[in-house]
Amino acid sequence: MEILHVAAECYPVAKAGGLGDVVGALPRFQAELGHNAKVVMPMYRTEYLYSHHWEVVHKGGANLGHRWFDYTVIKESTSAQGFDLYLLDIHGLLDREKIYGYEDDVERFCAFQIAVLSWINAWDTLPHVIHVHDHHTALIPFMMKHCFGFKRLEGVPSVLTIHNAQYQGSFSWDKTMYIPHWDSWKRGLLEWNGSINPLAAGIRCAWNVTTVSNTYLNEMKISSNGLESLFEYEKGKCSGIINGIDYQVWDSSHDTYITNHFTASDVEVGKEKNKALLCERFNLDPQKPLFVFIGRLVGEKAADLLPQVINDSFRYLGRKMNFLILGSGERNVEEKLVHLKSISMKDYEVYIGYNESLSHLMYAGADFLLMPSRVEPCGLNQMYAMRYGTIPLVRNTGGLVDTVIDVDNQDGYGITFNDATVGDITHAIYRALELYTQIEVFRSLQKKTMKLDFSWNQSAQQYVDLYHNM
Ligand code: ADP
Repeated sequence: MEILHVAAECYPVAKAGGLGDVVGALPRFQAELGHNAKVVMPMYRTEYLYSHHWEVVHKGGANLGHRWFDYTVIKESTSAQGFDLYLLDIHGLLDREKIYGYEDDVERFCAFQIAVLSWINAWDTLPHVIHVHDHHTALIPFMMKHCFGFKRLEGVPSVLTIHNAQYQGSFSWDKTMYIPHWDSWKRGLLEWNGSINPLAAGIRCAWNVTTVSNTYLNEMKISSNGLESLFEYEKGKCSGIINGIDYQVWDSSHDTYITNHFTASDVEVGKEKNKALLCERFNLDPQKPLFVFIGRLVGEKAADLLPQVINDSFRYLGRKMNFLILGSGERNVEEKLVHLKSISMKDYEVYIGYNESLSHLMYAGADFLLMPSRVEPCGLNQMYAMRYGTIPLVRNTGGLVDTVIDVDNQDGYGITFNDATVGDITHAIYRALELYTQIEVFRSLQKKTMKLDFSWNQSAQQYVDLYHNM
């Protein structure tokens, strides 16, 4: 089967979060199942672009409203990622260093989607499935069905995977001309709450919709940033498929970002060495348990609660632990976390920014991972952490429910709590400290988590089964 993934991110080319990890791994596992999986993404100006070899496979042009643009598609010569990787360049729109965050993101991603379809339209044989990811590519199913220029693609099955429904990409009707000549009777498919809503259009027009966990799918019918009734209405074609993790990249026994490798059998020594590196680098006390947070410093991740949680933990639980935070996001959260450094007694540090290699060392060297997310469609951090013997503290939401069982349950291995409140999180830290004092139990949990199977094999097959059913 020929499967074309279209996405804004793909690790290691460009990644801002979990979307990049998934698009960088799923196609490889589909290729291993014997399918011809490809990825096309924008050609940002990232390091990966300059350090790999490429060949030009297509040149074309299209309109974005009244503006004509030329585009070029290049393909990585060696298929180093285990699948065919294509980058699409649009001069003046996609040739930027960052993935998102520009004023003209609407124009950039509309042009990208138009160019992708115009390129596919020129193929001799069409792909069997077009699989789009999140709102940046969610207008594609609409365009395939209702833009006159893409009629040839109407019969190609499309899948939309929603990695995060908080972001929907809405834009106003005065930008309608960005969607190439379309059947105006279908206006209702684009509309949501008075705007053009790409995610809503994708949910309506894709042949199938998936979310990255079952629990998240159920939650969306109750709370999905305004799309609740749409999820309820379209539930017949929606399903949840949990993400896997890529053990080629994320595994304590061969992770290329860390030097002290370990397995479940020598977890104690391995973690001690990695923790020592972290503690030395960030001036922390290696004798105390280390709690880390890695992620976007935004409300969704409940990062705004961290300063108070850290304060309260020191105050009420005693200075028995270290905290190390890695992330970037909302300015006021960043400032508060930086400000907290002044109270550190070799037990608190924060790194503001994105740092892939530091994140790997933190998974390897920490004792506990904090994940108090208000919203967590799947969550990868908790699964990465467990592969490195780091016990996750998670709120019962979305994919965290599907992947972490509380230690108080039979077969449990993590710490869970119900509410994203300072009280609940601090109580979870209290429970973690108790666990840490029972060192034998703690070590056996570390070993247990390292042996859990969160591989892609099953999920990759579930996607293939879904394509077959279409
Ligand atoms: P989301 O996609 O909502 O941000 P996920 O848990 O699905 O959350 O994926 C987060 C991914 O991004 C993980 O690979 C995590 O390690 C990584 N990550 C997030 N913030 C940072 C950061 N500041 N530095 C390095 N890696 C980060």
